[in-house]
Amino acid sequence: MDNRTEETAGLAIHGGRPVREKTIFYGHQYIDDADIEAVTEVLRSDFLTCGPKIEEVEKKLCDLTGAKYAVMVSNGTAALHLACMAAGISEGDEVITTPITFAASANCALYCGGRPVFADINPDTYNISPEEIEKKISSRTKAVVAVDYTGQAADLGPIRKLCGEHGLCLIEDASHSIGTKYKGRYVGSIADMTIFSFHPVKTITGGEGGAILTDNEEYYTLLKLGRTHGITRDESLMEGNSEGKWYYQQVGLGYNYRMTDIQAALISSQLDKLPRFAKRRKEIVARYDEAFGELPQVVVQKEIAESDTVRHLYILQLNLEELTVSRKEVFDALGAEGVACNVHYIPVYYFPHYQKLGYGKGLCPNAERLYERILTLPLYYAMTDEDVEDVITAVKKVVQAYRKD
Ligand SMILES: *Cc1c(COP(=O)(O)O)cnc(C)c1O
Repeated sequence: MDNRTEETAGLAIHGGRPVREKTIFYGHQYIDDADIEAVTEVLRSDFLTCGPKIEEVEKKLCDLTGAKYAVMVSNGTAALHLACMAAGISEGDEVITTPITFAASANCALYCGGRPVFADINPDTYNISPEEIEKKISSRTKAVVAVDYTGQAADLGPIRKLCGEHGLCLIEDASHSIGTKYKGRYVGSIADMTIFSFHPVKTITGGEGGAILTDNEEYYTLLKLGRTHGITRDESLMEGNSEGKWYYQQVGLGYNYRMTDIQAALISSQLDKLPRFAKRRKEIVARYDEAFGELPQVVVQKEIAESDTVRHLYILQLNLEELTVSRKEVFDALGAEGVACNVHYIPVYYFPHYQKLGYGKGLCPNAERLYERILTLPLYYAMTDEDVEDVITAVKKVVQAYRKD
Protein backbone atom coordinates (compact mmCIF):
# COMPACT_ATOMS: atom_id res chain seq x y z
CA MET A 1 0.00 0.00 0.00
CA ASP A 2 2.80 2.40 0.95
CA ASN A 3 4.45 1.55 -2.27
CA ARG A 4 1.32 2.39 -4.25
CA THR A 5 0.91 5.78 -2.63
CA GLU A 6 4.46 6.52 -3.57
CA GLU A 7 3.88 5.54 -7.18
CA THR A 8 0.68 7.56 -7.42
CA ALA A 9 2.50 10.53 -5.94
CA GLY A 10 4.96 10.37 -8.84
CA LEU A 11 2.20 11.03 -11.37
CA ALA A 12 2.31 14.47 -12.95
CA ILE A 13 -1.34 14.95 -12.06
CA HIS A 14 -0.25 14.80 -8.41
CA GLY A 15 2.68 17.14 -8.87
CA GLY A 16 5.27 14.65 -10.15
CA ARG A 17 7.51 15.24 -13.12
CA PRO A 18 5.64 14.71 -16.44
CA VAL A 19 6.97 12.25 -19.02
CA ARG A 20 6.90 15.06 -21.63
CA GLU A 21 7.05 18.81 -21.38
CA LYS A 22 5.44 19.36 -24.78
CA THR A 23 2.03 17.78 -25.11
CA ILE A 24 1.49 15.31 -27.94
CA PHE A 25 -1.99 15.09 -29.52
CA TYR A 26 -3.80 12.06 -30.91
CA GLY A 27 -3.52 13.03 -34.57
CA HIS A 28 -1.85 15.55 -36.83
CA GLN A 29 -1.63 16.08 -40.56
CA TYR A 30 1.65 15.91 -42.45
CA ILE A 31 2.15 18.49 -45.20
CA ASP A 32 5.35 18.70 -47.24
CA ASP A 33 6.67 21.03 -49.95
CA ALA A 34 5.16 18.89 -52.71
CA ASP A 35 1.71 19.40 -51.15
CA ILE A 36 2.24 23.14 -50.91
CA GLU A 37 3.41 23.30 -54.53
CA ALA A 38 0.43 21.28 -55.72
CA VAL A 39 -1.98 23.67 -54.02
CA THR A 40 -0.10 26.76 -55.19
CA GLU A 41 -0.23 25.52 -58.75
CA VAL A 42 -4.02 25.40 -58.59
CA LEU A 43 -4.18 28.89 -57.11
CA ARG A 44 -2.23 30.16 -60.13
CA SER A 45 -4.40 28.25 -62.60
CA ASP A 46 -7.76 29.02 -64.22
CA PHE A 47 -9.82 26.62 -62.14
CA LEU A 48 -10.36 26.77 -58.41
CA THR A 49 -13.31 24.38 -58.69
CA CYS A 50 -14.78 22.06 -61.36
CA GLY A 51 -11.32 21.88 -62.94
CA PRO A 52 -8.94 19.10 -63.98
CA LYS A 53 -7.69 18.20 -60.48
CA ILE A 54 -11.00 16.57 -59.62
CA GLU A 55 -10.75 13.99 -62.38
CA GLU A 56 -7.06 13.53 -61.69
CA VAL A 57 -7.65 12.53 -58.09
CA GLU A 58 -10.72 10.46 -58.99
CA LYS A 59 -8.55 8.46 -61.36
CA LYS A 60 -5.85 8.07 -58.70
CA LEU A 61 -8.38 6.64 -56.25
CA CYS A 62 -9.66 4.21 -58.89
CA ASP A 63 -6.09 3.16 -59.70
CA LEU A 64 -5.29 2.71 -56.03
CA THR A 65 -8.36 0.71 -55.08
CA GLY A 66 -9.42 -0.98 -58.30
CA ALA A 67 -12.84 0.68 -58.17
CA LYS A 68 -14.42 1.58 -61.51
CA TYR A 69 -15.76 5.01 -60.53
CA ALA A 70 -14.88 7.65 -57.95
CA VAL A 71 -16.80 10.83 -57.15
CA MET A 72 -15.03 13.51 -55.12
CA VAL A 73 -17.27 15.54 -52.81
CA SER A 74 -16.89 18.27 -50.21
CA ASN A 75 -16.47 15.99 -47.18
CA GLY A 76 -17.04 12.46 -45.89
CA THR A 77 -20.44 13.31 -44.47
CA ALA A 78 -21.65 14.53 -47.89
CA ALA A 79 -20.26 11.28 -49.33
CA LEU A 80 -22.35 9.23 -46.87
CA HIS A 81 -25.44 11.33 -47.59
CA LEU A 82 -25.11 10.87 -51.37
CA ALA A 83 -24.42 7.15 -50.95
CA CYS A 84 -27.66 6.78 -48.97
CA MET A 85 -29.53 8.81 -51.62
CA ALA A 86 -28.13 6.68 -54.42
CA ALA A 87 -29.09 3.54 -52.48
CA GLY A 88 -32.65 4.89 -52.51
CA ILE A 89 -33.03 5.36 -48.76
CA SER A 90 -36.28 7.18 -48.08
CA GLU A 91 -39.00 7.67 -45.47
CA GLY A 92 -39.29 4.66 -43.19
CA ASP A 93 -36.33 2.70 -44.55
CA GLU A 94 -33.91 1.19 -42.07
CA VAL A 95 -30.14 1.39 -42.31
CA ILE A 96 -28.06 -0.82 -40.04
CA THR A 97 -24.83 0.54 -38.63
CA THR A 98 -22.53 0.40 -35.61
CA PRO A 99 -22.84 2.68 -32.58
CA ILE A 100 -19.04 2.91 -32.22
CA THR A 101 -18.50 5.45 -34.98
CA PHE A 102 -18.64 9.12 -35.77
CA ALA A 103 -22.26 10.33 -35.80
CA ALA A 104 -22.19 10.91 -39.58
CA SER A 105 -22.31 7.13 -40.24
CA ALA A 106 -25.84 7.13 -38.80
CA ASN A 107 -26.93 10.70 -39.57
CA CYS A 108 -26.78 9.92 -43.29
CA ALA A 109 -29.83 7.67 -42.92
CA LEU A 110 -31.70 10.44 -41.05
CA TYR A 111 -30.93 12.94 -43.84
CA CYS A 112 -32.89 10.72 -46.22
CA GLY A 113 -35.81 10.18 -43.86
CA GLY A 114 -34.56 6.73 -42.94
CA ARG A 115 -33.97 5.24 -39.53
CA PRO A 116 -30.56 4.11 -38.31
CA VAL A 117 -30.69 0.73 -36.58
CA PHE A 118 -27.71 -0.02 -34.37
CA ALA A 119 -26.16 -3.48 -34.38
CA ASP A 120 -23.68 -4.39 -31.66
CA ILE A 121 -19.95 -4.82 -32.14
CA ASN A 122 -17.62 -7.76 -31.82
CA PRO A 123 -16.03 -7.16 -28.38
CA ASP A 124 -12.57 -8.19 -29.57
CA THR A 125 -12.24 -6.41 -32.95
CA TYR A 126 -14.63 -3.54 -32.03
CA ASN A 127 -16.16 -3.71 -35.51
CA ILE A 128 -19.84 -4.33 -36.24
CA SER A 129 -20.72 -8.02 -35.83
CA PRO A 130 -22.30 -9.83 -38.82
CA GLU A 131 -24.37 -11.95 -36.43
CA GLU A 132 -25.74 -8.82 -34.80
CA ILE A 133 -26.51 -7.31 -38.20
CA GLU A 134 -28.48 -10.40 -39.12
CA LYS A 135 -30.59 -10.09 -35.96
CA LYS A 136 -31.50 -6.51 -36.89
CA ILE A 137 -32.60 -7.15 -40.50
CA SER A 138 -36.33 -6.48 -41.02
CA SER A 139 -38.62 -6.03 -44.01
CA ARG A 140 -37.76 -2.30 -43.90
CA THR A 141 -33.98 -2.73 -44.01
CA LYS A 142 -32.49 -1.22 -47.16
CA ALA A 143 -28.78 -0.83 -46.45
CA VAL A 144 -25.89 -1.54 -44.12
CA VAL A 145 -23.26 1.12 -43.35
CA ALA A 146 -20.25 -0.93 -42.28
CA VAL A 147 -17.53 1.18 -40.67
CA ASP A 148 -13.89 0.10 -40.84
CA TYR A 149 -13.35 1.30 -37.29
CA THR A 150 -9.75 2.38 -36.53
CA GLY A 151 -8.75 1.33 -40.08
CA GLN A 152 -9.33 -2.38 -39.64
CA ALA A 153 -11.65 -3.67 -42.37
CA ALA A 154 -15.06 -4.70 -41.08
CA ASP A 155 -15.96 -8.37 -41.50
CA LEU A 156 -16.75 -7.67 -45.15
CA GLY A 157 -17.07 -11.26 -46.42
CA PRO A 158 -19.90 -12.30 -44.11
CA ILE A 159 -21.50 -8.83 -44.29
CA ARG A 160 -21.50 -8.89 -48.10
CA LYS A 161 -23.06 -12.34 -48.04
CA LEU A 162 -25.86 -11.16 -45.74
CA CYS A 163 -26.48 -8.11 -47.91
CA GLY A 164 -26.66 -10.32 -50.98
CA GLU A 165 -29.14 -12.71 -49.37
CA HIS A 166 -31.43 -9.90 -48.19
CA GLY A 167 -31.08 -7.53 -51.16
CA LEU A 168 -29.38 -4.80 -49.10
CA CYS A 169 -26.97 -2.16 -50.34
CA LEU A 170 -23.59 -2.35 -48.61
CA ILE A 171 -22.08 1.07 -47.96
CA GLU A 172 -18.62 0.89 -46.45
CA ASP A 173 -17.62 3.88 -44.34
CA ALA A 174 -13.89 3.70 -44.98
CA SER A 175 -13.15 7.10 -43.44
CA HIS A 176 -10.49 5.39 -41.32
CA SER A 177 -9.21 2.79 -43.71
CA ILE A 178 -7.73 4.21 -46.89
CA GLY A 179 -4.92 1.84 -47.90
CA THR A 180 -6.31 -1.10 -45.94
CA LYS A 181 -6.85 -4.42 -47.75
CA TYR A 182 -9.42 -7.10 -47.04
CA LYS A 183 -8.33 -10.52 -48.29
CA GLY A 184 -5.80 -8.79 -50.51
CA ARG A 185 -8.26 -6.34 -52.07
CA TYR A 186 -8.12 -2.65 -51.30
CA VAL A 187 -11.13 -1.17 -49.53
CA GLY A 188 -12.92 0.81 -52.18
CA SER A 189 -13.39 -2.18 -54.46
CA ILE A 190 -15.43 -4.44 -52.16
CA ALA A 191 -18.70 -2.82 -51.03
CA ASP A 192 -21.46 -1.51 -53.33
CA MET A 193 -20.27 1.97 -52.41
CA THR A 194 -17.26 2.94 -50.30
CA ILE A 195 -16.75 6.36 -48.81
CA PHE A 196 -13.55 8.10 -47.75
CA SER A 197 -12.99 11.23 -45.66
CA PHE A 198 -10.05 13.57 -46.07
CA HIS A 199 -10.41 15.51 -42.82
CA PRO A 200 -7.01 16.53 -41.38
CA VAL A 201 -6.95 13.80 -38.72
CA LYS A 202 -7.42 11.07 -41.35
CA THR A 203 -4.49 9.32 -43.03
CA ILE A 204 -4.79 11.47 -46.20
CA THR A 205 -6.12 15.01 -46.04
CA GLY A 206 -7.49 17.73 -48.26
CA GLY A 207 -8.35 20.12 -45.41
CA GLU A 208 -11.86 18.81 -45.92
CA GLY A 209 -12.93 16.31 -48.52
CA GLY A 210 -14.73 13.10 -49.29
CA ALA A 211 -15.12 10.51 -52.01
CA ILE A 212 -17.51 7.74 -52.99
CA LEU A 213 -16.20 4.74 -54.92
CA THR A 214 -18.36 2.26 -56.78
CA ASP A 215 -18.40 -0.19 -59.67
CA ASN A 216 -22.09 0.45 -60.30
CA GLU A 217 -22.83 2.81 -63.20
CA GLU A 218 -26.33 3.67 -61.98
CA TYR A 219 -25.02 4.72 -58.60
CA TYR A 220 -22.25 6.67 -60.32
CA THR A 221 -24.77 8.68 -62.34
CA LEU A 222 -26.89 9.41 -59.25
CA LEU A 223 -23.85 10.41 -57.20
CA LYS A 224 -22.66 12.86 -59.85
CA LEU A 225 -26.13 14.40 -60.13
CA GLY A 226 -26.49 14.60 -56.35
CA ARG A 227 -23.13 16.36 -56.07
CA THR A 228 -24.28 19.26 -58.18
CA HIS A 229 -27.94 20.15 -57.56
CA GLY A 230 -29.38 17.31 -59.66
CA ILE A 231 -28.33 19.35 -62.69
CA THR A 232 -26.98 17.77 -65.87
CA ARG A 233 -25.81 18.74 -69.34
CA ASP A 234 -25.90 15.11 -70.45
CA GLU A 235 -28.69 14.74 -73.03
CA SER A 236 -29.15 11.08 -72.29
CA LEU A 237 -30.32 12.03 -68.78
CA MET A 238 -32.71 14.80 -69.90
CA GLU A 239 -36.45 14.76 -70.39
CA GLY A 240 -37.15 15.96 -73.93
CA ASN A 241 -34.46 17.37 -76.12
CA SER A 242 -31.66 19.82 -75.50
CA GLU A 243 -32.46 23.32 -76.72
CA GLY A 244 -28.86 24.22 -77.51
CA LYS A 245 -25.36 24.26 -76.21
CA TRP A 246 -26.27 26.43 -73.19
CA TYR A 247 -28.95 24.01 -72.10
CA TYR A 248 -29.06 22.03 -68.90
CA GLN A 249 -31.77 20.52 -66.77
CA GLN A 250 -32.33 19.77 -63.15
CA VAL A 251 -33.61 16.20 -63.24
CA GLY A 252 -33.70 15.55 -59.49
CA LEU A 253 -33.00 17.29 -56.20
CA GLY A 254 -29.30 17.45 -55.43
CA TYR A 255 -26.92 19.60 -53.44
CA ASN A 256 -23.78 21.63 -53.85
CA TYR A 257 -21.41 18.98 -52.52
CA ARG A 258 -18.57 19.82 -54.92
CA MET A 259 -14.93 19.65 -53.93
CA THR A 260 -12.60 22.47 -54.92
CA ASP A 261 -9.55 21.86 -57.11
CA ILE A 262 -7.49 23.22 -54.22
CA GLN A 263 -8.59 20.29 -52.05
CA ALA A 264 -8.25 17.81 -54.91
CA ALA A 265 -4.67 18.89 -55.60
CA LEU A 266 -3.74 18.44 -51.96
CA ILE A 267 -5.36 15.00 -51.79
CA SER A 268 -3.70 13.97 -55.04
CA SER A 269 -0.29 15.01 -53.71
CA GLN A 270 -0.94 13.32 -50.36
CA LEU A 271 -1.92 10.06 -52.08
CA ASP A 272 1.61 9.86 -53.51
CA LYS A 273 2.80 9.50 -49.91
CA LEU A 274 0.27 6.83 -48.90
CA PRO A 275 2.80 3.95 -48.98
CA ARG A 276 5.09 5.88 -46.62
CA PHE A 277 2.21 6.93 -44.39
CA ALA A 278 0.97 3.34 -44.23
CA LYS A 279 4.39 1.91 -43.43
CA ARG A 280 5.00 4.33 -40.56
CA ARG A 281 1.54 3.83 -39.08
CA LYS A 282 2.07 0.07 -39.15
CA GLU A 283 5.43 0.44 -37.41
CA ILE A 284 3.95 2.53 -34.62
CA VAL A 285 1.03 0.15 -34.14
CA ALA A 286 3.42 -2.83 -33.97
CA ARG A 287 5.52 -1.07 -31.34
CA TYR A 288 2.45 -0.15 -29.26
CA ASP A 289 1.02 -3.68 -29.54
CA GLU A 290 4.33 -5.14 -28.39
CA ALA A 291 4.61 -2.77 -25.43
CA PHE A 292 0.98 -3.02 -24.32
CA GLY A 293 0.57 -6.72 -24.99
CA GLU A 294 2.42 -7.52 -21.81
CA LEU A 295 0.53 -5.09 -19.54
CA PRO A 296 -2.30 -6.82 -17.64
CA GLN A 297 -4.04 -3.45 -17.10
CA VAL A 298 -4.78 -2.95 -20.80
CA VAL A 299 -6.19 -4.89 -23.75
CA VAL A 300 -4.92 -4.69 -27.32
CA GLN A 301 -7.42 -4.52 -30.21
CA LYS A 302 -7.72 -7.84 -32.01
CA GLU A 303 -7.23 -7.93 -35.78
CA ILE A 304 -8.95 -10.36 -38.12
CA ALA A 305 -6.57 -12.26 -40.38
CA GLU A 306 -8.43 -10.99 -43.47
CA SER A 307 -7.52 -7.36 -42.81
CA ASP A 308 -4.15 -5.92 -43.78
CA THR A 309 -4.69 -2.76 -41.82
CA VAL A 310 -3.46 0.79 -42.19
CA ARG A 311 -4.50 2.00 -38.74
CA HIS A 312 -5.99 5.46 -38.40
CA LEU A 313 -6.65 5.27 -34.64
CA TYR A 314 -4.86 3.40 -31.90
CA ILE A 315 -7.34 2.37 -29.23
CA LEU A 316 -6.11 1.43 -25.80
CA GLN A 317 -8.73 -0.58 -23.93
CA LEU A 318 -8.36 -0.44 -20.16
CA ASN A 319 -8.81 -3.64 -18.22
CA LEU A 320 -10.82 -1.99 -15.46
CA GLU A 321 -10.75 -5.18 -13.38
CA GLU A 322 -7.01 -4.63 -12.94
CA LEU A 323 -7.22 -0.91 -12.17
CA THR A 324 -8.26 1.06 -9.09
CA VAL A 325 -9.71 3.94 -11.13
CA SER A 326 -11.97 4.52 -14.12
CA ARG A 327 -11.13 5.68 -17.65
CA LYS A 328 -11.55 9.32 -16.66
CA GLU A 329 -8.69 9.21 -14.11
CA VAL A 330 -6.41 7.45 -16.58
CA PHE A 331 -7.32 9.94 -19.32
CA ASP A 332 -6.62 12.93 -17.06
CA ALA A 333 -3.40 11.42 -15.69
CA LEU A 334 -2.10 10.79 -19.23
CA GLY A 335 -2.95 14.35 -20.16
CA ALA A 336 -0.90 15.61 -17.23
CA GLU A 337 2.02 13.45 -18.42
CA GLY A 338 1.88 15.30 -21.76
CA VAL A 339 -0.11 12.70 -23.73
CA ALA A 340 -3.42 14.20 -24.81
CA CYS A 341 -5.72 11.30 -25.60
CA ASN A 342 -9.18 11.28 -27.09
CA VAL A 343 -12.12 8.90 -26.96
CA HIS A 344 -13.47 7.38 -30.17
CA TYR A 345 -16.38 7.02 -29.82
CA ILE A 346 -19.30 7.81 -27.58
CA PRO A 347 -22.03 5.40 -28.79
CA VAL A 348 -24.01 7.42 -31.32
CA TYR A 349 -27.40 6.68 -29.76
CA TYR A 350 -26.26 8.16 -26.41
CA PHE A 351 -26.51 11.64 -27.88
CA PRO A 352 -29.54 13.74 -26.92
CA HIS A 353 -30.65 13.97 -30.56
CA TYR A 354 -30.90 10.17 -30.75
CA GLN A 355 -32.39 9.85 -27.28
CA LYS A 356 -35.15 12.24 -28.39
CA LEU A 357 -35.75 10.02 -31.40
CA GLY A 358 -36.47 7.19 -28.98
CA TYR A 359 -33.20 5.23 -28.84
CA GLY A 360 -32.75 3.85 -25.32
CA LYS A 361 -29.52 3.07 -23.58
CA GLY A 362 -28.78 -0.64 -23.33
CA LEU A 363 -29.28 -1.27 -27.07
CA CYS A 364 -25.75 -2.57 -27.72
CA PRO A 365 -24.12 -3.86 -24.52
CA ASN A 366 -20.74 -4.67 -26.05
CA ALA A 367 -20.44 -1.18 -27.53
CA GLU A 368 -21.47 0.42 -24.25
CA ARG A 369 -18.98 -1.67 -22.29
CA LEU A 370 -16.20 -0.80 -24.73
CA TYR A 371 -16.99 2.91 -24.50
CA GLU A 372 -16.35 2.88 -20.74
CA ARG A 373 -12.89 1.45 -21.26
CA ILE A 374 -11.27 3.16 -24.22
CA LEU A 375 -8.77 5.88 -24.93
CA THR A 376 -7.29 6.92 -28.25
CA LEU A 377 -3.51 7.27 -28.16
CA PRO A 378 -1.47 9.47 -30.50
CA LEU A 379 -0.91 7.87 -33.90
CA TYR A 380 0.26 9.78 -36.96
CA TYR A 381 2.95 9.68 -39.60
CA ALA A 382 5.17 12.43 -38.23
CA MET A 383 5.54 10.94 -34.74
CA THR A 384 9.20 10.31 -33.94
CA ASP A 385 10.43 7.14 -32.26
CA GLU A 386 10.94 9.27 -29.18
CA ASP A 387 7.30 10.39 -29.24
CA VAL A 388 6.20 6.76 -29.47
CA GLU A 389 8.38 5.75 -26.53
CA ASP A 390 7.09 8.71 -24.49
CA VAL A 391 3.53 7.55 -25.03
CA ILE A 392 4.46 4.03 -23.96
CA THR A 393 6.33 5.31 -20.90
CA ALA A 394 3.37 7.49 -19.90
CA VAL A 395 0.84 4.65 -20.30
CA LYS A 396 3.00 2.28 -18.28
CA LYS A 397 3.60 4.89 -15.60
CA VAL A 398 -0.09 5.67 -15.22
CA VAL A 399 -1.56 2.17 -15.35
CA GLN A 400 1.09 0.81 -13.02
CA ALA A 401 0.45 3.58 -10.52
CA TYR A 402 -3.26 2.73 -10.61
CA ARG A 403 -2.87 -1.05 -10.75
CA LYS A 404 -4.72 -3.39 -8.46
CA ASP A 405 -2.54 -5.74 -6.48
C1 LIG B 1 -14.37 11.46 -40.25
C2 LIG B 1 -15.48 10.50 -40.34
C3 LIG B 1 -16.64 10.76 -41.07
C4 LIG B 1 -17.01 12.10 -41.64
O1 LIG B 1 -16.09 12.65 -42.42
P1 LIG B 1 -16.03 14.25 -42.65
O2 LIG B 1 -15.11 14.32 -43.81
O3 LIG B 1 -15.48 14.85 -41.40
O4 LIG B 1 -17.40 14.71 -42.96
C5 LIG B 1 -17.59 9.74 -41.20
N1 LIG B 1 -17.40 8.56 -40.61
C6 LIG B 1 -16.32 8.29 -39.86
C7 LIG B 1 -16.19 6.94 -39.26
C8 LIG B 1 -15.34 9.25 -39.68
O5 LIG B 1 -14.28 8.98 -38.92
